[in-house]
Amino acid sequence: MCGIFGIANHSDASRLTYLGLYALQHRGQESTGISSSDGDQVFTHKSMGHVADVYDEDALARLRGSNAVGHTRYSTAGDSSAGNAQPIVVNCSFGTVAVCHNGNLINANFLRESLEHQGAIFQSTTDTEVILHLLARSQQTGILDGLVESLSQVQGAYSLLILTKDAMIGVRDPYGFRPLCLGKLNGSYALASESCAFDLIDAQYIREIEPGEVIMIRGEQITSVKALHAPRTAKCVFEHVYFSRPDSMVFGRTVQSSRDRMGRALARENPVDADLVVPIPDSGMAAAVGYAQESGIPFAMGLIRNHYVGRTFIEPMNSIRNFGVKVKHNPVRELLAGKRVILIDDSLVRGTTTRKIVKMVRAAGAKEVHMRISCPPTISPCFYGVDTPAKKELVASSHTVEEIRKNIEADSLAYLSLEGLLKAVNAKENEFCTACYTGKYPLGFADGMPNEREKEQQLDLWEATLNPVP
Ligand code: AMP
Repeated sequence: MCGIFGIANHSDASRLTYLGLYALQHRGQESTGISSSDGDQVFTHKSMGHVADVYDEDALARLRGSNAVGHTRYSTAGDSSAGNAQPIVVNCSFGTVAVCHNGNLINANFLRESLEHQGAIFQSTTDTEVILHLLARSQQTGILDGLVESLSQVQGAYSLLILTKDAMIGVRDPYGFRPLCLGKLNGSYALASESCAFDLIDAQYIREIEPGEVIMIRGEQITSVKALHAPRTAKCVFEHVYFSRPDSMVFGRTVQSSRDRMGRALARENPVDADLVVPIPDSGMAAAVGYAQESGIPFAMGLIRNHYVGRTFIEPMNSIRNFGVKVKHNPVRELLAGKRVILIDDSLVRGTTTRKIVKMVRAAGAKEVHMRISCPPTISPCFYGVDTPAKKELVASSHTVEEIRKNIEADSLAYLSLEGLLKAVNAKENEFCTACYTGKYPLGFADGMPNEREKEQQLDLWEATLNPVP
């Protein structure tokens, strides 16, 4: 979970990158950074915190030059600290290189150990730094060949932006796990995780960067090669379920339309006699509208979300029951009292928040509470860049739907089927990764699917390298 944005050949490169990151804030809230280049030197500003707080006029003025790349970080590997903020900048035989990474490498620990054994000194705990060490060791003469050589050794999810002193390079891993798209603003090209970043700066969306494509922008020149290959693609379906902004084009599709179709399919698959369809805001909004329209049951904003909630609160001396949930969501009693309510959310992970919200809706006077989830049960953690809890914390990995229903104290509980989800995103065969719903990981098991014990050992190993959702 990270957002990346870059623009080349624009006199206002660092400010536009700042705005691009502003639009991508939802992809990572821990830290942010921008590197710019003026053809001669690379300048960097990075810090912990939100985009709006990290940059000021002075910082942006110091980020000189017509090329810039930036990052918003939510850690999946490596801890949440200033030392791990990106871009990561190094000097090597290819000159000064700044890298922004969205994704997660699954063989980073193995590569890191072997590099350290050969004398490499790492400056951070991120998986991204491994790519830079491999690049620095490459004997290739050009950076593009050096990059392709390095990336053919890493396994996992990576959408990358790389800034040199006179060019910007974009890469998408051959499975295409994470998104990356190309936009144009007059004579300048921009690259972004999601198209909503282009809308804010009046740039025009052109296309997705293809899985395995390496694109280099130098001045007005753009060159592209399909340099990295995989037997299939594995675009993350969760980007459409939850992670991306609904107003974005991701994997060539509008996220809002996918979510609307998920809600409609959920209504067809799991109808229930009720008075109101109520979203859990904001994550359940689009699917709830689809559910209401398909079922003909009125939509109502029966829960309101406070958008100004920070990560920590100063609680009163005598602690308030369920304060964490209450401070974020509050029911509209007049709407809910005496009603049979269908609550819609995009996903159910641990079940702890959902349980509290069901309770809250009942306490507000709802006669019945029917929970509907616009994706299948989440049974397996993600190792390709989405921050999910360990398997044992995923309630659906060890409980039936009926057990979960009892646990969250809902009158009924139903999920969208995998077929329904794939149809909602117009998936082609083997186009999407659905490992979080199936446990079938498209990458990482060298000789096809190992036996169960080997698989569990491998998963434990990967799990040990991740930071679960706090
Ligand atoms: P819970 O009831 O505790 O399982 O929480 C469910 C809520 O968590 C839903 O509203 C989801 O939108 C949200 N959610 C799902 N996946 C993630 C994630 N990877 N990080 C943060 N929140 C998530």
